[in-house]
Amino acid sequence: MKKPHQTERRHLAIKRRCGACSQTISPGEQVTALFEDVHRRFHIWYTKDFKFPELGHLSASTDCFYFCRRPSCAQCANGPDTTTVHVDCLAIFLAYSFKIRSIKVKEALFSLHTSDLYRDPWRQAPLLCLQEQAAFDTSVFHFFVSLYDIPQLRTLPAEIREMIRLSSPRTFFWRAVATISAAYSVDLMAPETVHIRDIGHFNRGEPPISRLHEFESAGPMIIRITIDSDGIRRLERLAERPPSCSESSTCLAYIVELEAAIPQKALLLGGRLKLDIPVSWNSLRIWDTPGPPIKHLHFSPRLTLRSQRIETAIQYRTINLTAISGITLFYSQGMPFGIFAHRIATSSALRSYQHFSKLRQDTSIWIYLPIAAQDTVVCLVLRQTPRGRTNLLVRTRLCGDIILGPQLQPTQESKDYLLAAGASITMIYNELPHYEQVNHIGAYCDTASSQDLQPFEMHTCEHSLETSATYHSAAPLNSVTSITVFRHADGACRGILLEYENHGLRAVGECRIGVDASDHYTEPTRICVGKHDSTALLHEQTHEHVHVAIDSCAGQHGIHEWDCYHMSGVLHFVFSKRSSLIFIAN
Ligand SMILES: [Zn+2]
Ligand SMILES: [Zn+2]
Ligand SMILES: [Zn+2]
Ligand SMILES: [Zn+2]
Repeated sequence: MKKPHQTERRHLAIKRRCGACSQTISPGEQVTALFEDVHRRFHIWYTKDFKFPELGHLSASTDCFYFCRRPSCAQCANGPDTTTVHVDCLAIFLAYSFKIRSIKVKEALFSLHTSDLYRDPWRQAPLLCLQEQAAFDTSVFHFFVSLYDIPQLRTLPAEIREMIRLSSPRTFFWRAVATISAAYSVDLMAPETVHIRDIGHFNRGEPPISRLHEFESAGPMIIRITIDSDGIRRLERLAERPPSCSESSTCLAYIVELEAAIPQKALLLGGRLKLDIPVSWNSLRIWDTPGPPIKHLHFSPRLTLRSQRIETAIQYRTINLTAISGITLFYSQGMPFGIFAHRIATSSALRSYQHFSKLRQDTSIWIYLPIAAQDTVVCLVLRQTPRGRTNLLVRTRLCGDIILGPQLQPTQESKDYLLAAGASITMIYNELPHYEQVNHIGAYCDTASSQDLQPFEMHTCEHSLETSATYHSAAPLNSVTSITVFRHADGACRGILLEYENHGLRAVGECRIGVDASDHYTEPTRICVGKHDSTALLHEQTHEHVHVAIDSCAGQHGIHEWDCYHMSGVLHFVFSKRSSLIFIAN
């Protein structure tokens, strides 16, 4: 297609979501971008194919564009609204729009583009990373099943079929099913402007229900907007704030505000609603629970130090610490950039990790906080240095005080912020997906403890690696009933999970649950640590990870020199991306 006449390169803010199949686009995939002509309404241009760039990067097209994934880019903000599509999905969409509905290319492009824009709850909404729910036409599915000659799929119950789909949603099969389903729902209407004050209730796919006048005198009204991966799903009016709810969703996001805090104008198109947010509007708060906690909420100061453009929304995630088996904190350069809640003991943080850019993945450290079923987190504190290095301090009923994160020197200035103390703590944090950073960590506790709190100690540790990005962890060796050693590919130790007589659990090093190979030992009597060349460690010339063996002194210890310890004292595990060491203090 001919390109619009431009002299300067323009930024196109490409999205990580395919406008046809709705699936996440990975860097390197072949895509094209659609946008509306500024001068000719309803006329959609599409660019030449390009490889989807990494987050934070832009790639220049052979014609006149930059395909931009820079967070909060000012040039993109002034650029056109863009739809990003897999090249093969676009071809399927256009072919089937014509085949099924006789819709020509021009109209099909317009419908694809406008429909994609309504998947964002408003223009330049933050990336919400909501897990998408199956939305495909059953007849399309059956057609594909016969095309691929896999009739067994047809007879499966819907839940099993959904499990199969979720295990590989981005394969061509499922992308094609979703794309053709989208071609069936092509809509060629123009959007109309509506006012929120006139809407009593809205469900996607249905015309909005007008507001009843008797409501207007009933004092302040709360508006709750429910968002899913397909945009605004519901808008409802509540007479009062909903009670706080500790159940969090990965599929749905919620805005719960007084009517005055919600922008008044919205656009309606074919049963879909989109807010029209004025430029100077205060950031909206987005939650992962329909009843966000508002009272007794404490936050640390911002973790990220550089100044940022005001986002159109702040997204809060909640983790009810009484309902999970642990959390994995992803760290880079001494700061957390992602948090994963293990809602069942075997769940792996790998999928969250895979959402991060290659750069983040390459520098990441996984820090695991196990929470045994019998244990309770009773206090949560954040420790921060002026340069932004951040420790999460956790006190549990069975394990006592645990310090997670980078090693701070005793002389280093730092400040502790109490987030919550009590028996049922919900951790709250604000992620900036565009920046791959955790911006705020806070907590909420409805049964706040009124007792004076014992402060957390500073960790004093004489051993260190010669790098600024060193992490520290420690756990006692007394009363250990079992040990799980997580291993690097070469067999070296990556992390150790310890279980105690009182059923408490502690982790040192990197315990990447469900990712790395691990060995489990019960009733250990000795822990043996392989020595390695300390000069290599000092200069970080090589990858040099500590080796650990349990109860194997009787046999040969192999090529390494070993130090063998009885199960007493405190095990210190000091580690960085490239090296680690263990020492045991009595
Ligand atoms: Zn696609
Ligand atoms: Zn840009
Ligand atoms: Zn130490
Ligand atoms: Zn030994």
